[in-house]
Amino acid sequence: MQLDGSCHCGKVRFSVRSSQPYPFNLCYCSICRKTAGGGGFAINLGADKASLEVQGEEHIGVYRAAISDGDSGRTRKSQARRSFCKHCASALWVWDPRWPELVHPFASAIDTPLPTPPERTHLMLAYKASWVPVHVQAGDLSFDEYPDESLADWHRRLGLGEDGA
Ligand SMILES: [Zn+2]
Ligand SMILES: [Zn+2]
Repeated sequence: MQLDGSCHCGKVRFSVRSSQPYPFNLCYCSICRKTAGGGGFAINLGADKASLEVQGEEHIGVYRAAISDGDSGRTRKSQARRSFCKHCASALWVWDPRWPELVHPFASAIDTPLPTPPERTHLMLAYKASWVPVHVQAGDLSFDEYPDESLADWHRRLGLGEDGA
């Protein structure tokens, strides 16, 4: 489906074609929580980068988080590029050059009414803030880190959101 999105102040507007428009993927990692998820998590959708059209590109800033390497204590820059509005700070989308054909708009930036997911995936729970409740409903899946299925796999398993949906 076609998704239209914008930042809060309206200086950035975008549209993108999405085959994975169900907002089911709740990420509780600290980056999502601090940059895009005041309630404890952010939700990314799956979309086709080639179809992304942006108005107000000059108002966009890009954030690459520093990720600590655990054992070595060293940090490296995350490959993921998080685009946001430089004026109102709305999180817009994530793009990662390792999967250049994909772009992941934040559901919070989308103005088009999104379909309601019949079940959800809770991921990166190992990094969740202690005060954040996880509302697991029947059918939901939970993962300490990354889930074992992609956004596309989830849509395929449930028979939802294929091209043309
Ligand atoms: Zn803005
Ligand atoms: Zn995250």
